[in-house]
Formats: sequence, C-alpha cells, structure tokens
Amino acid sequence: MSVTSPQIPQPESSSKHAEQPTQRDHVYFFDTTLRDGEQSPGCVMHSNEKLRMAHQLAALGVDILEAGFAIASEGDSESIRTIAREVGASPNAPVIASLARAKREDIEAAARSIEPATRGRIHTFLSTSDLHMAAKLNITREQALDQIGAMVALARTYSDNVEFSPEDATRTDPDFLVKVCTVAIQAGATTLNLPDTVGYCLPQNYADMFLNVRAHVPGIENIILSAHCHDDLGLAVANTIAALQAGVRQVECAINGIGERAGNAALEEIAAVLVTRRDQLPYEHHINMKQLYPTSQMLSTCISFGAAPNKAIVGKNAFAHAAGIHQHGVMANPVTYEIMTPESVGVPHNSLVLGKHSGRRALEHRLIELGHKLSHEELDAVYHRFTELADRKKTIYDQDLISLLQQTKATVPA
Ligand code: MN
Repeated sequence: MSVTSPQIPQPESSSKHAEQPTQRDHVYFFDTTLRDGEQSPGCVMHSNEKLRMAHQLAALGVDILEAGFAIASEGDSESIRTIAREVGASPNAPVIASLARAKREDIEAAARSIEPATRGRIHTFLSTSDLHMAAKLNITREQALDQIGAMVALARTYSDNVEFSPEDATRTDPDFLVKVCTVAIQAGATTLNLPDTVGYCLPQNYADMFLNVRAHVPGIENIILSAHCHDDLGLAVANTIAALQAGVRQVECAINGIGERAGNAALEEIAAVLVTRRDQLPYEHHINMKQLYPTSQMLSTCISFGAAPNKAIVGKNAFAHAAGIHQHGVMANPVTYEIMTPESVGVPHNSLVLGKHSGRRALEHRLIELGHKLSHEELDAVYHRFTELADRKKTIYDQDLISLLQQTKATVPA
C-alpha cells in the first residue's frame, strides 16, 4: 500500500525533551511491554522481573517506557516508582510513563509513581467512541470534552510531559475526534495517541484518521502523534507503519507483541521494518538492533510463554532455512533468501535446520562447522545414512550427525 506523506511543518523552537517534535525524521519507541503486555493472560511479572526487563528495555534504547498503571494496585505503583528510581534517574534514561484514567485519583497516583524519574510522563486516557461513552462510561460527548480538558490540564500541573489517548479512537466519529484532539492540545497534551484499541482498522483507514486530524486540529504541528495498534486481525504492525507514513512519530509497541488479546504491535518487527526498508521509511530511531533477540529471550523467561517458532525476527525458525534449495542458496550468498541477517538482530547463529529436504551441501557445511572435513567418499557415505535417518526423524540435530559420522567412519576405509 502507499500513503503519500504530506509536507510536515518544521518546528519553530527546540525543546529540552528528546521526544518533543524537534526532529521530524525521528521515530520514538514507546514500549508498553510492562503495562499493556503485562496485563494480558500469562504475562504477569513480579516486580523484580519488571525491573530486570526495564533495565534491558533501556539498553535496547526505547525512548519511553510505560512501566505500569499506578492506580491499579499498590504493587503496580511501587513497581513504577522503583523503575523510575533505578532505571529512569540518569540523564539519558528513557522517559518513564504511568497510565492513568482521566480521573483525579488516577492522575495523582501516576504523578507520585513517576516522581523519581529524571523525565516522567503521565499517560491519561478516556474513551471517545459513542459506543464506549454510552455503554461503558454513561457520559455525553460534551461531558467527555469537559473531562478531557480538565484532566489533561490537571496532569500538566504535575508534569510538562503529558500524553492523552482517546480510547477506541478508530471507532470514534471523525469530526468528534477532531474536537477531542483540539481540547486535549489546548489543555496541554504534548503527545496525542490515537489507539486502534480493538484491532479493527485497516492500514489505509488508520493513516486517513491521522491525516484528518493533522489537517483539522489547530496546534497539532507542535505535538507528537502516536500510534497504538492491536493485532486482532494480524494488522498491528502494518497499521503502525501506515501511521508512520501519515506523519506519526511515536509508536507504541511491546516485545514479542504481547498485550491485550492478540497483543500489541511487536517492537522488534517495527524496528526491523524501519531498518530493512529504510528506502521507504527514512527515519532515525534509538533502537539498538542487536539487543532485540536478547530482550525477547529475557521476556520469555519472565512470562509463561515464549515467541512462536515462526514469529518474525525473534522466533526459533525466523532465520532457519529448511528446504535444500534454500540452504544451498543461503550458503552461496545469504542475500538469496535473507532480507536481514540473524546477527543484525542479535541472534547468535544462523540455524540451518537439517531434515529430509536438506541437500548434500548443507550437510557438508554443518559437518565442517562441527569440525569434520570429509573426503568425497566419506561425505557420500554419511549423506546416504543421513537421508535414511531423515526419513524417520523430522529434524536432525548436531548430536545425530556426530553419531552418524561415527557409524560411517567405522565402515569407510581410511
Ligand atoms: Mn492497548
């Protein structure tokens, strides 16, 4: 798909805050692994695990780290405070954010929890779709506008860094959404996040929503627009990329794509898209790509499941070439079937999975890696046994190869 990116106005003044719109070619990564991610089934983390993850996320280079939802529990609030103190207190630390409903007690709890951070953010939200306002909040559009104005202004009394999210933005009436954004900016919001809360949007719809608010909301050129996408239809990353092409400069995402229901947009996938398709998406970012795989692995040890084997970028099979014709190609020149290298995202080693579709060259290559350079005859003999074994066994591991080799060597004259 193609979305033409309209001319983005240049900011007039710079700001001390790194995530303010001083650089229009910079994409800010807002990580919500510890908030949206952690609130999904199987992802509950102890506060020491959250702290370990927060250190790793800082090493990964996320710009904003949403550490939790302070009002949710005493434990959550304490854990945000610990992260703000231990991870967020150095000059180059990520901004530490807490979520807060657009309510006084939520905002006050958020403000207390981020207080130790050098740079803290209050992220407040209110549903703005007619459906949510009627069914969930029992408020009118006018009441919603009043509440947004008052609560964003309240948040600004605690922090000069305030994000507002109209929940269910993608199912909000577009004209009303313009009013919502106008009120939030007038009240002092510095980031405006328009979430696809239920994962319903198509990429073009999502881009159009941002283009519409950019065209009609006064002062929008002075704030950062943000995308927050869910993967219910498998479109979270595609929608996020479409939003970038429509002028968004903050992406909300989570490691391994964890989050409510089908999850959030996967951080590692967005980062890999930016690096691999820089020809189309010429934006800078702070992500240290070699930390992607280690971060994914660390998260898997903190929660009750890992990435699916076929998960892009960080799955066990993401760089595994099983078919013989692919294996031959990758060994001749990795570019034949690899659009990025496993090493570039921190995967220790390109795993060539040996199985019945593997060719003689793949076998020879792996044996050399294991320290065994065979003669032509030896290789013939090992390959013959290898194909017999592969008929019975799906995947041939290094251990299998070693024992094959020993059996064969015994029968091949030196
Ligand atoms: Mn969400």
